[in-house]
Amino acid sequence: MRARAVVDLAALRANVRALRAAAPRAELMAVVKSDGYGHGALPCARAAREAGASWLGTATPEEALALRAAGDTGRVLCWLWTPGGPWREAIEADVDVSLSGMWALREAVAAARACGRAARVHLKADTGLGRNGCQPEDWAELVAAARAAEAEGTVRVAGLWSHFACADEPGHPSIAAQLEVFRALVAQAEQAGIRPEVRHIANSPATLTLPESHFDLVRTGIAMYGISPSPELGHPADFGLRPAMTLSASLASVKRVPGGHGVSYGHRYVTPGPTTLALVPVGYADGIPRHASGTGPVLVAGKWRTVAGTVAMDQFVVDLGGDSAAPGDEAVLFGPGDRGEPTAEDWARAVGTIAYEIVTRIGTRVPRVYV
Ligand code: PLP
Repeated sequence: MRARAVVDLAALRANVRALRAAAPRAELMAVVKSDGYGHGALPCARAAREAGASWLGTATPEEALALRAAGDTGRVLCWLWTPGGPWREAIEADVDVSLSGMWALREAVAAARACGRAARVHLKADTGLGRNGCQPEDWAELVAAARAAEAEGTVRVAGLWSHFACADEPGHPSIAAQLEVFRALVAQAEQAGIRPEVRHIANSPATLTLPESHFDLVRTGIAMYGISPSPELGHPADFGLRPAMTLSASLASVKRVPGGHGVSYGHRYVTPGPTTLALVPVGYADGIPRHASGTGPVLVAGKWRTVAGTVAMDQFVVDLGGDSAAPGDEAVLFGPGDRGEPTAEDWARAVGTIAYEIVTRIGTRVPRVYV
């Protein structure tokens, strides 16, 4: 096999249990958007359910509907809506929907009337992320309209929720500020007669480090896949987490070349002397960052190497120096790290991004193998 992303579902289940232990009074939502952060939404959703996730979370309604089509019958929330979205399909499929403003409430109510069934909604407040969500000054209007729709029987407000901006930076002043705004907006909605099943704001970093943010439900993505939300917070093992994905490839060629040999497009790497080059058959079409040249780490023949020259669409080269290898030998790009291989965090550091992006961008051409 050219390349493979082995996903350790036992590790994922253990991570879910560790996260539940970190938030013992809250329910857990397994965030499986973007194809389970590249790990495969359906197998990860099933594994997370087995380990006690009572909710699944997706960004798009299409992702939520795909979970239903695959047979998931538990609670699912999807939060990224655009006008004209599949409200009716979501309501009929018993998917919880997020509403960030009046236009969304109007569309949900119209769809609920059309299918004769109440929409289960979570009102989302922008408590300071500055992204999606209802502005605090517009909250009263949204709450009052949702109450009216509840009275009419077209809506049931199941959740009140928000999302952090800087939960991965413990002590960041925005954390306390967002919590204060969230508490005030929840109180305001409850005073207006809203009786939510769940109030929720915590993502992975907040689940791991901020018990006062757990409320009734925590929404964990990256930590469930065994990756630390940020290097500053610590290593996955510090939280009892283990990376679930190992990305590896079989060397496609190994050859001796003289010194002064230009490697890959643009000749950004030139061999300093006679050496052995190995060809790793994954490239930017598989999600390997193109600018990993000279920085991206790979375990080949027992040592860390770095990408030599430009990453091409389907392949890149590593310089083995005086070491030898054979076609078919394994190159491990990242994994849990306990066999000496780099981790997704190492890749993130090497190419100046976050580990979320490293795993999420692994392309569909790389088969996922579940163990
Ligand atoms: N909740 C929402 C609304 C999100 O968009 C995300 C992911 O970005 C999460 C929860 C999960 O975040 P994390 O992967 O940091 O746990």
